[in-house]
Amino acid sequence: MELTNIGTVREILSRHGFSFSKGLGQNFIINPDICPKIAEMGNAAPGFGVLEIGTGIGVLTAELAKRADRVAAVEIDSRLLPILDETLADFNNVKIYNEDVMKCDLHRLIAEEFGGLRAAVCANLPYYITSPVLMLLLESRLPVESITVMVQKEAAQRLCAKVGSRESGAITVAVNYYGTVRQLFGVSRGSFMPAPNVDSAVIRIDPSPEPRLSEAEEKFFFRVVRGGFSQRRKTAANAVSSQLGITKEAVYEALRVTGLGESARLEQMTLDELIAFSAALRKITM
Ligand code: SAM
Repeated sequence: MELTNIGTVREILSRHGFSFSKGLGQNFIINPDICPKIAEMGNAAPGFGVLEIGTGIGVLTAELAKRADRVAAVEIDSRLLPILDETLADFNNVKIYNEDVMKCDLHRLIAEEFGGLRAAVCANLPYYITSPVLMLLLESRLPVESITVMVQKEAAQRLCAKVGSRESGAITVAVNYYGTVRQLFGVSRGSFMPAPNVDSAVIRIDPSPEPRLSEAEEKFFFRVVRGGFSQRRKTAANAVSSQLGITKEAVYEALRVTGLGESARLEQMTLDELIAFSAALRKITM
């Protein structure tokens, strides 16, 4: 079935009485070049199980199922299930979970579905939860080799910015802490039905196998990063002391130990400086 053919898609949707939900970020891919590229660049290959988040009518799901050993997909909208029964009828290696990805036990899902296989995530993410989904995948240390996702172009720019540059944010620090990130290709708004008001881009995150910090250190590090970046234009001393309730003197001391001046700002620090600063601050305040 040609799931990028507008006529075919319209026919299926109208036969099932389906109307798009803006709230669920439903913009389906109709450009035939995109899904094969995401699948190929996202580890959909023999020996892999691929987790997809948000199937829509299954246009990416089908490309993943053609290439990977198994596909498990989480889709919140039950109205899509009868459509997927039809569009994915040719595949016996796909399982759909009608759940909210934010509430789903993804570790269990991967263990049950992909036992013995290497694992990867591929998705055209619902844009209203891009950051929460990525943070969920990274923070829970999901055992996957790559996370290849389509996001809004602006989100891609932030995610792929250099830590310490003006474009970076707490999410930039997080993805760089947990692994490496790069942009694969841009996608114009005309590639979707209905067309959104923004362009998109596909990025790939490769989580590092080993954590850089212990669990307790990591928890403190992200408190510092989240707190500090919520007042990013302020000096680290002002932002961190007001957000975390730590004295300015303690922050100044931590900055000194890290080799930074008293007027340093969190948004200008490199990842290594942020980690060293947070470690020093933790030691001083413990
Ligand atoms: N993969 C399809 C494509 O590329 O055409 C659909 C992508 S569409 C941008 C996002 C999909 O995510 C929609 O099908 C939507 O119903 C689903 N979705 C939205 N929120 C979700 C959630 N919390 N959990 C699981 N799926 C969700």
